[in-house]
Amino acid sequence: MPPIIEIDHLSKQYAGGTKALDDVSLTIEQGEILALLGPNGAGKTTLISIICGLVVPTGGTVRVDGHDIRTDWRAARRLIGLVPQEIALEPFETVANAVRFTRGLYGEAPDEGYIEQVLRSLALWDKRDAPTRALSGGMKRRVLIAKALSHRPKVLFLDEPTAGVDVHLRREMWAVVSELRASGVTIILTTHYLEEAEEMADRIGVIDKGRLLLVRPKAELMGEFGRKHLTVELDPPLSALPEGWAEDDITLSDDGRSLGYAYDARAERTGIGRLLADLNARGIGIRDVATKQSSLEEVFMSLLESSAGERR
Ligand code: ATP
Repeated sequence: MPPIIEIDHLSKQYAGGTKALDDVSLTIEQGEILALLGPNGAGKTTLISIICGLVVPTGGTVRVDGHDIRTDWRAARRLIGLVPQEIALEPFETVANAVRFTRGLYGEAPDEGYIEQVLRSLALWDKRDAPTRALSGGMKRRVLIAKALSHRPKVLFLDEPTAGVDVHLRREMWAVVSELRASGVTIILTTHYLEEAEEMADRIGVIDKGRLLLVRPKAELMGEFGRKHLTVELDPPLSALPEGWAEDDITLSDDGRSLGYAYDARAERTGIGRLLADLNARGIGIRDVATKQSSLEEVFMSLLESSAGERR
C-alpha cells in the first residue's frame, strides 16, 4: 500500500526569521500510529499545521494519499482531521450540533447515521443533546475528536491530546485512540509525555530544533538505544563495593543489599557473566537477579544529547 503521507524536504522559516522546520522528509504508512516527540519549540505544531494547510511551507512538498497539499489542497484536506491542542467549543451548542456543523464546513451532506456512529464510539451518544459547556474536560476532548472525525478522514492529527489532563483521563484517551486505529484511521500525535509514545506509538519520530533526528519503530528504537539494567540482590548484604567495581559502572545500594549494573544488551560482551562469576569467586551470595529495559525517556534524552554534541 502506498504511504498515506509523503513529506519531502519540508522547510519553514517564519517571517521573524525563526527556522521552525529544516529539510524534513518522512513517510507515514496507512493505519499506523506515529508519535512525534520533541522539546518545546522543536517544530511539531508547525509540521502538523503545514500538513493540515494552516501554515504555508517555505520549501518542500507534502502529499496526502497522493494529493499535494498546495496544488490539490481541497482533496488533501478532506482526508485529514485535526484535534487541536486548545479546547475551543461553542459553549451553548449541543454536542451533536457541534459535530454536524463541522461536517457541514467540509461540504459533506448530512449523515445522521454516521454522526451517531461517531458519537457512540466516543461514548458521547448519551450527551448528544447536552450543551458542550456542561461537559467534563475529558468529554470536551472527545467532542473535539468527534468533530475532527465528522467528515470521515483517513488521517487524524492529535496535537498534544493529553496535555494537562490527569492520569485517568489520559488512559481513557489512549483507549479511544487505539479504538480509532483499529477502525483503520492513521494517527499522528505530538506529545511531551514519553510514556504516551511508549504506550501507543508504532513508530516514533524525534524532532529537535526543526530537524527530524530519526523515525524508527518503537521496539527497534528501544532495543538499539536502550540500555538494560541488571539488579543483583545480595545475601548477606555488602558493606562496601569491592575495589575497582565502580569504574565498571557497578553500583551498590545504600543498604548494601543490591548491586546495579547498566549494560548494552546488543554488545557482544555484556559483562554480566563476568560480574556473576566474580561474585561467585568472592563468595558473595546471590538471592535474586532482575533486568529492566531503560525507559523511552532515557533513550530520548541520550538522543537529544548526542544530536547537540554533533552540532557543537
Ligand atoms: P511545543 O511543544 O511548545 O508546542 P512545537 O514543537 O510544537 O512546540 P512549534 O510551535 O512548531 O514547536 O514552534 C517551532 C518554532 O517556531 C518555535 O521557535 C516557535 O517560537 C516558532 N514559531 C511558531 N509559530 C510561529 C509564528 N506564527 N511566527 C513566528 N514564529 C513561530
